[in-house]
Amino acid sequence: MRVEDWDVVVAGAGVAGLFCALNLPEGTRTLVICKEDAATCDSMLAQGGMCTLTGPDDREPWIADTLAAGHGDNDRAAVEAMVDGSPAVTEALLSLGVAFDRRPDGSLDHTREGAHSRPRIVHRADTTGAAVTEALLAAVRALPWVEVRERCPMEDLLVEEGTDGRRCAGLLARDADGPVELRAGTVVLATGGVGGLWERSTNYPCLTGDGIEACRRHGVAVEHLDWVQVHPTSLYSEGPGRAFLISESCRGEGAVLIGADGRRFCDELAPRDVVTAAIREQMGREGSRSVRLDFSAVGEDVVRGHFSHIYETCLAAGHDILAEPVPVVPAQHYLMGGIACDLWGRTSLDGLLACGETACMGVHGSNRLASNSLLEAMVFAARCAETASGEPPRVAPGAAHPEMRPPAGAAAAADATA
Ligand SMILES: Cc1cc2nc3c(=O)[nH]c(=O)nc-3n(C[C@H](O)[C@H](O)[C@H](O)COP(=O)(O)OP(=O)(O)OC[C@H]3O[C@@H](n4cnc5c(N)ncnc54)[C@H](O)[C@@H]3O)c2cc1C
Repeated sequence: MRVEDWDVVVAGAGVAGLFCALNLPEGTRTLVICKEDAATCDSMLAQGGMCTLTGPDDREPWIADTLAAGHGDNDRAAVEAMVDGSPAVTEALLSLGVAFDRRPDGSLDHTREGAHSRPRIVHRADTTGAAVTEALLAAVRALPWVEVRERCPMEDLLVEEGTDGRRCAGLLARDADGPVELRAGTVVLATGGVGGLWERSTNYPCLTGDGIEACRRHGVAVEHLDWVQVHPTSLYSEGPGRAFLISESCRGEGAVLIGADGRRFCDELAPRDVVTAAIREQMGREGSRSVRLDFSAVGEDVVRGHFSHIYETCLAAGHDILAEPVPVVPAQHYLMGGIACDLWGRTSLDGLLACGETACMGVHGSNRLASNSLLEAMVFAARCAETASGEPPRVAPGAAHPEMRPPAGAAAAADATA
């Protein structure tokens, strides 16, 4: 088999994998691999936006909203790390040219979604994920010390016995030239979610939890794999394929859920699991396969401006949301559990780090608050870069508490329950 040697190999080219690669020190020989093309990742699909700290007075309310949505199953220290890391991530994205929407006075436009007590979400219309991911991809591709290799699925971890015990020595993968052993000082798993395993999901079908499965195979700790979030509002369709998401921010801007009788039946801004349960009950009561989302209270300018992607996609599917309520149904959306990690991305296997949706840092508890995941992925990706290199993140140096450095040694999550 061909053998390649790298300093760091990152599996996954969504925001987590890309932000990690971008934050490694200059000259770190890094390979980023992805399963299909680089555009086929959930990061590209994110609509609503990314939470960020609007000022010191929002720190506690944001933490409280995240803990409330997560039913208190969250790790508070992880939530604090995400919130405190947000200004550095937002600054880094702005410096990379991400043109988040602004108000007429030039300040960032913060929107609000379900279960948020305040507006704190930066966005680029309703295609925020594409704006962020494309900027990160362009920035990573410009680094001469990083290679992004598309259509290179990871097939397994390379685990070796050393004098100090077991260690991840690289990945086994397959690229255009066949099987390849990718040896590395550090491996970062950023392989995203598990929606591809579900019949109806908002995720890309190729996201099948491969990093998690490889960890299970080698006895690396994973946790809370039953903490799966269902999004209340995907566009109802009879056909197969990825379910199109209708962002929570539509409800944040006034869209309401109605049953067959045209009446509202729940608080649309309650946490996702609560709204999902209400929709399922309503469908059960009326024997229907969907409920409807009514945009009448959302101004036409907001629909055509802020929600242009949703408007166009629904129109192409035969639903003019400006003229009539659109049928919606819950769909699998996000995995809160995953590979057990400490706050520096370290797994129970030496040499193996994880970040993004495939990792479980404990931020989301058992139910994720809307628009926390892009941010969480990037804050902890920057921390992974620091763990791998021992140096502060290159483009987002403030993404970690300056007083907290990763302790020496690895395998900090070794006692996590499998
Ligand atoms: C429709 C939709 C809307 C969303 N809206 C928002 C939002 O508004 N705000 C928000 O914060 N979050 C949102 N989310 C969630 C958020 O987009 C994801 O949680 C986040 O982007 C995950 O990033 P990631 O880098 O961990 O994974 P992804 O972006 O999914 O990337 C995973 C990467 O892993 C690669 N990969 C997988 N398996 C392998 C393998 N075997 N070998 C090599 N590579 C592999 C894939 O090719 C891909 O490059 C949304 C999600 C969806 C689906």
